[in-house]
Amino acid sequence: MSGPDIIPVATATGAYDVIAGAGALEAAATRFQEMFPRGEAIIVTDTNVAGLHLDRVRGALRQVGIECEPVIAAPGEGQKSFSGIEALTDALAHAGVERGDTIIALGGGVVGDLTGFAAAIYKRGIGFVQMPTTLLAQADSSVGGKTGINTRAGKNMVGAFHPPRLVVADAAFLDTLPKRELRAGYAEILKAALIGDAALFDRLEAAGDGIYTPETLQPALTSAIRFKAGVVARDEKEAGERALLNLGHTFGHAFEAEAPGQMTHGEAVAAGLALAFRYSAQRGDCPQADADRVAAHLRTAGLPDGPDAVPGGPFDAARLVDRMRHDKKNSGGTITLVLARSIGDAFIAPGMDANDIERFLKSQMT
Ligand code: ADP
Ligand code: ZN
Repeated sequence: MSGPDIIPVATATGAYDVIAGAGALEAAATRFQEMFPRGEAIIVTDTNVAGLHLDRVRGALRQVGIECEPVIAAPGEGQKSFSGIEALTDALAHAGVERGDTIIALGGGVVGDLTGFAAAIYKRGIGFVQMPTTLLAQADSSVGGKTGINTRAGKNMVGAFHPPRLVVADAAFLDTLPKRELRAGYAEILKAALIGDAALFDRLEAAGDGIYTPETLQPALTSAIRFKAGVVARDEKEAGERALLNLGHTFGHAFEAEAPGQMTHGEAVAAGLALAFRYSAQRGDCPQADADRVAAHLRTAGLPDGPDAVPGGPFDAARLVDRMRHDKKNSGGTITLVLARSIGDAFIAPGMDANDIERFLKSQMT
């Protein structure tokens, strides 16, 4: 083993490295000395992750002379709220966190989004380090600088672009992750391949049901991070290309909105990926064989290959389309989809016909 991968991310609002793989935490430790000159660090985490990984992280930081004080939230999406932000910023004030300080987010996407947003607004902005502990967060949400909370009006309605100073995606965090969460994160790796890395898809397809072994998963994760880093470097604020990262998500968000809490984000996205390719094939944009390969691989990966396989169904096509029309990424009542010309070649398709999508969705459900 040659040690963890280092993936540089450079955007207009900040440049930082992602250290990913086995030994990432230890490899990052020397950088912490300069980030925490007072020899103290606040670690924001949730009760689940605290029980599993906090001691190891504290130990690694102690090795380089940094003492950690944890701020531990309850787990779950409910923390990504104004009251969660209020509690966290109060805790930071109570702990004496000052301007110029840096805090650590140790956990999944919830902890990362919440802590990142707190770091963006506390004392008008402090630094933060992402230590993503789910595959979903390692592959997707910890990279790209988006932070935020949910409101009554919808998910991630309030937030800020606030890039981390460093992302530490240590492979050992994933050892305790339930298989269903691992599969959910895999959907985002697959998404990256389908948007713009056909060679990655070929490797994953060839690995078959070996995709979840570290030998296959870790290099695939690094490829997905590299891919996302490239996209956000070229289009941080989603003026164009970054919207490609929504492949599978307009369909996926509709499933999630219809049956909240019943599926993982990755399960919803997986079905969305299958639908995006089948719809592309039906429209003549993409070979049917590619859509079939995507669906087959999703089944191999233990992920939904269409609406019937999404937990929380059955779904109503008209209601799903209504959700799609109101997705926060759409404007003026029209639907923008991300479609594909082939595996590894996605494109943005604005102004799609809602009735046609509804007919298509009906044809995809029993
Ligand atoms: P994501 O949005 O990345 O899926 P969440 O923050 O919602 O992440 O985390 C999903 C669940 O998994 C939460 O209950 C969280 O406490 C738990 N969790 C996070 N990391 C780990 C881990 N490494 N091992 C076990 N459970 C974890
Ligand atoms: Zn996603």
